[in-house]
Amino acid sequence: MRILIAEDEGPLAQQVQSALAAEGHAVDIAADGEEAHFLGETEPYDLVLLDLGLPLRDGISILKSWREKGVNVPVLILTARDGWTDRVDGLDAGADDYLTKPFHMPELTARARALMRRNAPTKNPVFSHNAVSYDTRNGRVSVNHVPVNLTAQEVAVLSYLFHNANRHVTQTELSEHIYEYDDDRDSNTIAVFITRLRKKLGADLIQTERGRGYMIQLAS
Ligand code: CA
Repeated sequence: MRILIAEDEGPLAQQVQSALAAEGHAVDIAADGEEAHFLGETEPYDLVLLDLGLPLRDGISILKSWREKGVNVPVLILTARDGWTDRVDGLDAGADDYLTKPFHMPELTARARALMRRNAPTKNPVFSHNAVSYDTRNGRVSVNHVPVNLTAQEVAVLSYLFHNANRHVTQTELSEHIYEYDDDRDSNTIAVFITRLRKKLGADLIQTERGRGYMIQLAS
């Protein structure tokens, strides 16, 4: 999944980036409000962590602008502990959740996972399809309870397909959600990741339909 961190405190932004990257997400950082606004409007993020006190443009104004333009990405706002009015303004501007600073990293990553699961067909933090399971809490993948080693990019592809199960996902869409802003995006490599995932996890997990893309079909 692809996440934007809009945060001007550099060390904090990097700590959050490391924690989320360790779970297999592609994470971009915007250090000021103008950059955050631009990236949120132009890149297809699966989650935004938005500090309200940003240089150049404040978080509430960014959020209002996104929501007016139909940018419906889940947004978690970061506020000061005594800033209850900011939290009210933020939620009323279209935020989905908030966290007060300072926070414990496991709480931030748990809230991030919950927000990203919100639009998934299952709310279980462990996604499974027949013998295959993928635990969103630690990125572990197993077949018949036997752990399988996947590369970070293979996990990223699997994670996006599970979060978007029951619909077709094109190679282009996948490449937009597993790479960071500065990465070289080569949608041809997606086919390679899919082949490897099928080899490691079984051929029936990911369906392909020519011209429409890939899909994991979850039983309803
Ligand atoms: Ca700030």
